[in-house]
This record gives sequence, structure tokens and C-alpha cells, in this order.
Amino acid sequence: MSARTGILLVVSGPSGSGKTTLCRRLAGSGEVHYSISCTTRPPRPGEENGRDYHFLSKEDFFQRLEAGDFLEHAVVHGNLYGSLKSEVLSYLQAGTDVVMDIDIQGAEQVRNCQDPDIRNAFTDLFVMPPSEEELHARLSGRGTDSAETIALRMTNALEEMSHWRSYAYRLLSSDREEDYSRFQALVTAERLRVSRIS
Ligand code: 5GP
Repeated sequence: MSARTGILLVVSGPSGSGKTTLCRRLAGSGEVHYSISCTTRPPRPGEENGRDYHFLSKEDFFQRLEAGDFLEHAVVHGNLYGSLKSEVLSYLQAGTDVVMDIDIQGAEQVRNCQDPDIRNAFTDLFVMPPSEEELHARLSGRGTDSAETIALRMTNALEEMSHWRSYAYRLLSSDREEDYSRFQALVTAERLRVSRIS
């Protein structure tokens, strides 16, 4: 019997599309590693360093960038975000699936990455909110962001949404449970691909 190699599932979609909930829930099942990103954005109430993000100062972020620690990085909504190689590569090499919740710029960088471990493992999904109205309601309903931040996220969301065709899969968000079951179906299908079996 041959072993299965890990999959690298990159998930993008505008803030408020529900992608983080999907990724976290999948990781909570214990079979998938969630790549914890670095960011220079300040923590929101309830967020924990090392669990939600590695919260870094700009100086620390640039130091890690210079050291070559990032697989990808980007400026999103005016803050720096980056995925550490250490959150991805060692897991894939050990045959563990990895999910990355990153924006369209980061996804493009990972998609174009030449590292064979990444290339062999890669697949990607774009999560679309059901409508503009629902997206606005979701962003406002969080109660953690200012009106200015919500407006910026809304503008960015519309731009981001125009990129869904660059992804292998698209999930049009509807109901939380239905979304998750379709998300699981995607993961199951990707795990069954013959090219994933070494
Ligand atoms: P938030 O600040 O709401 O947690 O995330 C804002 C956006 O940044 C989301 O679209 C999220 O997917 C994206 N993001 C989070 N971590 C990373 C990362 O490491 N790299 C990139 N390129 N985007 C990220």
C-alpha cells in the first residue's frame, strides 16, 4: 500500500465570506494543520498571540522577511501579513494536510511557488459571500471593526471577488452547515487524487 502525501489547501475570499470559520473548523477536526500567519495588525478583542496569529511589530516582520522565513507575504487592508515556511513545509513533508487562509496576493505567490513539495500538494478555493448586502451585514455584525474599517474591507472585497476565476474551486457561501459539508467534500476529493499517492 502506498502512503498519501499531504495536501496544501489555500483558501481565499473577502473578509466576511466565512472562510476563516471553514478553515478553523477543518483544522479543529485534528487532521489538518492551520497555518498560523504573522501580521502587524493589532489583535482584535478575544484574539490570542500564537493561536489566531503571530502578532509582530513591523520591525520584527521585516526582520523575518529578510531572513527568508516567509513563504509569501502581502499588504492587506493596510497591514502586513505573511505565512511562515515553518507553518507549512515541515507538515507537508510529514504527510500532514495544511490549510492556509490567505488573501488573493498571497495565494498567487503560493500558486507560482517552484518548491516541489508545494507544487505537488497545492490546491485552492475561493469562498464567495452570498451577496453584497449579506457581506456588509456580516462585516458590520462582527462589532469589532470601525465604520471606516468596514468601508475599506467592503471596497477591497469587491476587488478581491473579481479574482475567483484564478482558483481551482469556488464555493458560493449559503448556510453554515451546507458550506462546511461542501468544503469537506472538496478536501475528501483532493485526498483521493491519484497524484497525491506516493
Ligand atoms: P483579518 O485581519 O480579517 O484576520 O484578515 C484580513 C485578510 O488577510 C484576510 O483576507 C486573510 O485571509 C488575509 N490573511 C491572513 N493571513 C494572511 C497571510 O499570511 N498572508 C496573506 N497574504 N494574507 C493573509
